[in-house]
Amino acid sequence: MTKKEYADILLPGVKHTKEEYETIYKERNLPEGAIVTRFAPSPTGFVHMGHLFTSFVANRFARQTNGICLLRIEDTDTKRTVENGVKQIIKDVNDYGIKFDEGAISETENDGEYGPYIQSERKDQYQAFAKHLIEHDLAYPCFMTEEESEEIRKIQESKKERLGIYGKYAKYRDITMENAIERINNGEKYIIRFKSPGNFENKVIAEDAVRGELEFPENDQDIVIIKQDGLPTYHFAHLVDDHLMRVTHIIRTDEWLSSLPIHIQLFDTFGFKRPIYAHLSPLTKKEGNTVRKLSKRKDPELAVSYYHEEGIPTEAVKIYILTIINSNFEEWFDSNKDKDFLDFELSFDKVSTSGSLFDLEKLKNISKNYLSTISAKELYERTLSYSQEFDNEFYDLLTKYKDYSINVLNIEREVERPRKDIESFSSVKKEIGYMYDELFEKDETQFEYKDFYDKDLLTYYIDNVYDESDDKNTWFNKIKEMCPKFGFASETKEYKKNPDNFKGSVAQACEIIRVAVTHRTMTPDLYEILKLLGKDRIKSRIEKFNI
Ligand code: GLU
Repeated sequence: MTKKEYADILLPGVKHTKEEYETIYKERNLPEGAIVTRFAPSPTGFVHMGHLFTSFVANRFARQTNGICLLRIEDTDTKRTVENGVKQIIKDVNDYGIKFDEGAISETENDGEYGPYIQSERKDQYQAFAKHLIEHDLAYPCFMTEEESEEIRKIQESKKERLGIYGKYAKYRDITMENAIERINNGEKYIIRFKSPGNFENKVIAEDAVRGELEFPENDQDIVIIKQDGLPTYHFAHLVDDHLMRVTHIIRTDEWLSSLPIHIQLFDTFGFKRPIYAHLSPLTKKEGNTVRKLSKRKDPELAVSYYHEEGIPTEAVKIYILTIINSNFEEWFDSNKDKDFLDFELSFDKVSTSGSLFDLEKLKNISKNYLSTISAKELYERTLSYSQEFDNEFYDLLTKYKDYSINVLNIEREVERPRKDIESFSSVKKEIGYMYDELFEKDETQFEYKDFYDKDLLTYYIDNVYDESDDKNTWFNKIKEMCPKFGFASETKEYKKNPDNFKGSVAQACEIIRVAVTHRTMTPDLYEILKLLGKDRIKSRIEKFNI
């Protein structure tokens, strides 16, 4: 029996050969330096920041080199694959404007010349490559039962040896074709293992675009390449897919760093050019003096859905990712205020290798900054669509008072230093809710009003002083003029000189008005607020303000 016939028996029904597949999936014709990369999630659960991080970064590198970023669904671990996992990943990354050139480009479209892009549909490709190895005596069927492998593990543990199938533990590595066929005829189950040519005593050098040169012991594990269900393991699928899809850069999280010796060995064994690897550090969080990985259980901010539910704009999250991923981004962004954050050129050598500290407070600050730069109209529209999903009451008010709401949001916006009080679409209601009578009337803010209460001053002000047509200077001067009548100093200086002679200064007089009409001690510009409320509503609020 020839090796080829043997391979046909071990993996029957494979339609094409490795060589045929290499002709079908042609070398790409792209400009020099174009990065072909991929986002390759496994649909095994919720979509987390790690996904967003990797996909965004991979996308940026492709975009900035006029390359390709493809989306490949890695669903070979059928036991862990969850329903709607793919749909959710695509939806979430699309929400962030991350578009793929190929692959599962939307929930319904799977596009490109290197597909299918779903691993469970590429069985034939993997098996063709596995057959090639079998034919070259670089792979073999392994008939090890669970009991046998458990036995090996116990021995290794008791002798404190490395775990795995290597050296003398690779029991079936030299199985004869005849023995294998006999076992198959007896109905014994098998998997296909790689016959590793490596020696653990040797060192191997791998290049990582982020970490530089890395030295590892050579891989000597006879790793599984084709499982019993005929699907490949991650290691083998990585080789086959990234080779056939003509991927140049593997941007992935560093949980795969320890598998690098296996991966480069596979590429070397086939004589393929190794791709360039870039391993990204995991997202970490500081807790007291310790730094730990973000965890699903402890950190709600790990889930991408958290930002959607909180109404944190996608732009802020992306700016934050850039801040973490490249240490020079912040400085660039500060000195290029007129540019879009996507104009920043990411570079591998500026990627942190020591863990990416994730700081939600910092992200929220970025969000405040970002939201201060968009127009009142845009802020209105986006808050409206957020509220439509999460807050019906506010949605109705925003719809009913559209122009008014935009004007409220515009207070201290189109100025040199716009206000930075809005952190998310969900916080808009909290920040401007008092401007709606429907919410103001229900307001139960409990704070000590006493210091801000002077009914005589308030009544006099609204009945005799306030005039909607006054400009800001006139408005303020009128408050100053009114001050002495109620025991307040018209000028702060005057008050500071003789504090005992006054109840307060013009500043406190303004506070009294502010608190009566907003129930807050801090608001944007009072003049603008009063103007938008209008005399009647101010009067009614003052009348109702009693303690
Ligand atoms: N499916 C792997 C994961 O989700 C992909 C890693 C890679 O990008 O190669 O971790």
